[in-house]
Amino acid sequence: MTPATTPLPPAVLPRDRSDLVVVGAGIIGLAHAVEAVRRGLRVTVVERDRRPVGASVRNFGHCCVTAQRGELLDLATRSRAGWLDAAARAGLWAPEAGALVVARSVTELAVLEELREERGADAVRLRTRDEVGDALGRPAHQRGDLAGGALLPADLRVDPREAAPRLAAWLAEQPGVRIVWGTNVTGVETGSVHTSRGPVRGERILLCVGHDLDRLYPVEAEAHGIERCRLSMARIEAPAALRTDAAVLTATSMLRYDAFTATPSATALRAEVERHGAELLGIGANVMFTRLPDGSVLVGDSHAYDLTEIPFQDEAVSVLLLREVARVLGVREVRVTERWQGVYASSSRGPLFVRDLAPGVRALSVTSGVGMTLSFGLAAATFDGTLRATA
Ligand SMILES: Cc1cc2nc3c(=O)[nH]c(=O)nc-3n(C[C@H](O)[C@H](O)[C@H](O)COP(=O)(O)OP(=O)(O)OC[C@H]3O[C@@H](n4cnc5c(N)ncnc54)[C@H](O)[C@@H]3O)c2cc1C
Repeated sequence: MTPATTPLPPAVLPRDRSDLVVVGAGIIGLAHAVEAVRRGLRVTVVERDRRPVGASVRNFGHCCVTAQRGELLDLATRSRAGWLDAAARAGLWAPEAGALVVARSVTELAVLEELREERGADAVRLRTRDEVGDALGRPAHQRGDLAGGALLPADLRVDPREAAPRLAAWLAEQPGVRIVWGTNVTGVETGSVHTSRGPVRGERILLCVGHDLDRLYPVEAEAHGIERCRLSMARIEAPAALRTDAAVLTATSMLRYDAFTATPSATALRAEVERHGAELLGIGANVMFTRLPDGSVLVGDSHAYDLTEIPFQDEAVSVLLLREVARVLGVREVRVTERWQGVYASSSRGPLFVRDLAPGVRALSVTSGVGMTLSFGLAAATFDGTLRATA
């Protein structure tokens, strides 16, 4: 059951000018607020809802470091350190559990071997069929379809249900920080944020509204080709034998992340999945799962793109995903306890939207579905001035 939330005090707008006003209490806004506090700044966070309910609480909580490449790998590596520091300060669950990529064919294994060649045996630790079988809790006689796998130890896990709310609660206790809930931002200009309760003033303003950027800046969002990506998610009871706390990824995951798609065997992998898993490709599946501290397991996901997301969840998509998760776990079926839809900002023009809209006003949205991974790295780069505006 979803826990009841503590009632919040009535929203009171600060009268004085903050060093930084952050719009949006998702992980991107909160990571920036945490980074600002580290630097001794006075921060106000303005959030239209009464608690975080956006993409940041609907995801897997997987800080997917090793699967990134180039600039995103640098940001993700930096973010990892930021997450661990924030977890220590705010008391978050953030095990260094890594990610386990399950290979069920020699082609999948070849992709992992090639990534190990590139990154080294410490970053990509190949696993035998039995090691993968043990982690998944599969009995010895049910491992015939496993080829092996790889542990990516740099990946982190956090609990998405807990991380943003607890960071917000921790921030609210810090001197010089105000969080104003239930207050919609209607416009932004240099030095001032216009809200449904009146103006909030700040030296710098950072707009971290995720996929809702088009509500405030439609022209800029359209120019960057920002769409809403809709994902089907579910929570299941964990099979009793499941052992691993790593995020578990599969072949369809390997087709989505740059580190895998850049390997020589990636083309053969795509052809193989097209032959044997066309239905999964048809729903844009990234079949993966992560175990929460209470033992339940988050499973997903599918991807559908549109400017405005349709609200209806096709049961056939869920059935397909759950069947595939059950196969990976080696069980006949899984018991679903919750279903929901997640939405994030997406663009084929690039993984990030960073735009200076007016002096002292910046908008930042992750447009590639890896905001949990990049959040603290982006925040660090924002404050040290290395995060450049995107074209
Ligand atoms: C199902 C799913 C699974 C995912 N899995 C992962 C994963 O495992 N790893 C990973 O790295 N990433 C994952 N992602 C992506 C990641 O969740 C997002 O990239 C990230 O959460 C975006 O954070 P955000 O703060 O920009 O957006 P959000 O969390 O959506 O926060 C934006 C906030 O802005 C507020 N807001 C909007 N407009 C206004 C306004 N006008 N006034 C005031 N407040 C406003 C909203 O209410 C919201 O709270 C996943 C996403 C989904 C949906």
